[in-house]
Amino acid sequence: MTRPLRRPGLAKWLADSNDVTQMFLAAGQIPDLINMAGGLPDPETWPVSDLSRLATRAITEHSGEALAYGPIEGLAGLRDAIATRFSAPGLRLGRENVLITTGGMQALDLIGKVLIDQGGLIAAQSPAYLGALDAWKPRSPTYRPMRVEAADFDPTAALRDAQFGYVVPNFSNPTGRLVGVEDRRAFVAAAEATGTWLVEDDPYGTLYYDGAPLPRMLTLSGRDEPVYDGPIIYLGTLSKELAPGFRIGWVIAAPDMIRALVSAKQGSDMCTSGLCQRIAQDAFAAGLTERILPQVLGLYRSRRDALCAAMNRHLDGLFSWEIPTGGMFVWATALNPALDTDVLLREALAHKVCVTPSSVFDPEGRDRRSIRINFTLNAPDKLEEGARRLAQATRAALGA
Ligand code: PMP
Repeated sequence: MTRPLRRPGLAKWLADSNDVTQMFLAAGQIPDLINMAGGLPDPETWPVSDLSRLATRAITEHSGEALAYGPIEGLAGLRDAIATRFSAPGLRLGRENVLITTGGMQALDLIGKVLIDQGGLIAAQSPAYLGALDAWKPRSPTYRPMRVEAADFDPTAALRDAQFGYVVPNFSNPTGRLVGVEDRRAFVAAAEATGTWLVEDDPYGTLYYDGAPLPRMLTLSGRDEPVYDGPIIYLGTLSKELAPGFRIGWVIAAPDMIRALVSAKQGSDMCTSGLCQRIAQDAFAAGLTERILPQVLGLYRSRRDALCAAMNRHLDGLFSWEIPTGGMFVWATALNPALDTDVLLREALAHKVCVTPSSVFDPEGRDRRSIRINFTLNAPDKLEEGARRLAQATRAALGA
């Protein structure tokens, strides 16, 4: 007798795993593939010997924190370090404003649990981060797309009646675009005027290649209160600043929001790894993230330039794109409206190169005109060859 494993719930998840997901899974098996699809840092940037020293110290000298179950909200010392790091004139943060999460992804998941009613409305920057769409899928939300760069974009109308707004203001994933400072101010004013929570997801906030960082919406929303109580739910992560394997992220928000998220986290993983938290705390205290940043910026800036130069050589006339001033991605839109970028992915894999098609960043899966290209993982010669293969694949997808 066969066991009835295919319950309706399982069937739904399997059905939702679409063609693009299947193609990505298949991509892992292709030898000599040039992978420009992920959002992956270059392992060369990881300060391995410093981290191994910190890991040894965490286990030998702080085993009570590193190896035991810890507080749900995170180690007090790490929460304090984050509160200090993000405090600014007019923005007073205390430990009660900070929750440590298991990566930025867990923060997105907890926000979904706390804030989204079944079928609720989310105002999300469009196109939107795939991980956020995945995290919120179980609540089957409806999306109001926010095209922040459109001349007639009105943040107050966008946030009104939404359960929350979701923005990646620094070098959005997928488009690499920066939300300007006036738009940030307008978002904060709109969140206050409408009484809507606004999630500021900021994994790329340190990766500015061409200028000084713009103020965070969190900072702009500070009102000199004794303890921050504003509408921004700020999400940070160590993934791009240090290494993604630590799975250390944090939420900064009003104390009530933090308490609600803590209660959701209790039912999720009880606490984030104490070992990783203790390493993060000591890495901050030793200034490790600041110390490696210039090298990381130098490496990624030169790769951004290498990819854009290669795209000029190979993809001019096929796509249009803007040169991003930070982050990890170039967003390229096909000039020929007949190009379907899901079809392009299939051709790209046949040509041993992988990029991410725009359909996965659209909750409806309808946007088939663009691709996201990562430039941080591969050396310049690979980026050059990847762009060349992508041009061949594009011509094949167009039947040219
Ligand atoms: N938000 C955005 C916009 C991201 O690009 C990422 C990483 N790809 C995350 C959140 C989550 O990162 P992590 O879980 O590694 O902290």
